[in-house]
Amino acid sequence: MLTEITKQNIQRILAELPDGVALVAAAKTRTPEEILEAVQTGVKIIGENYVQEARRAYEVVGKRAKWHFIGTLQKHNVRKKIVQMFDMIETVDSMEIAREIDKKCTQIGKIMPILIEINSGREKQKSGIFPEDAEQLIRGVSGLSNIKLMGLMTMGPRFGNPEEARPYFIATRMIFDKIKQINLPNVEMRYLSMGMTNSYKIAIEEGANIVRIGTKIFGERDYGSS
Ligand SMILES: *Cc1c(COP(=O)(O)O)cnc(C)c1O
Repeated sequence: MLTEITKQNIQRILAELPDGVALVAAAKTRTPEEILEAVQTGVKIIGENYVQEARRAYEVVGKRAKWHFIGTLQKHNVRKKIVQMFDMIETVDSMEIAREIDKKCTQIGKIMPILIEINSGREKQKSGIFPEDAEQLIRGVSGLSNIKLMGLMTMGPRFGNPEEARPYFIATRMIFDKIKQINLPNVEMRYLSMGMTNSYKIAIEEGANIVRIGTKIFGERDYGSS
């Protein structure tokens, strides 16, 4: 069950986001019932990090929400059921994953909207492609007929002073603007997914039109139980 506080959090965030900025509720560790209640409170897009969790939630919530994949995608996880359920995959960072999505989508006759994840902090252990390699990947992905590239996503630092995230958002937006200038097939640069609980206001200032918020909606995550 969602608490009243959680419902108020959702309503407050939805009311405060500027027009044209979409909220993705980052739902990791939440139960399908909690996610359904969040949708009934006004959330339109659910962000899922884990394939198993997503499938359980989808069984309960179904098409009442849009589903964005925001986790780390392994090649073996790109199954038909997965490309069927998701409305967008925000975390494509290699040609290998893009080709796999394209292949599965071709089999089911779907064109998948995707974002390229930029590792704007250039941290080796983090997912996403380094800024300097993004254009080459984007040119490669634009050759895949069952993928539609619709923008970029980045994480940036999750904790600390939100101002520290600003340079990461600026770096990502610069790539976004540059790709927008180039006319590539199957590419329509429309979405910039940046900012989480700690940093979404800064991200919006730097051009984000998708923000992914978990903690500020649902409270701190408890990975210990369940
Ligand atoms: C968990 C998560 C978020 C939300 O993070 P919060 O700090 O809880 O708002 C956003 N994006 C991704 C990719 C995540 O995994």
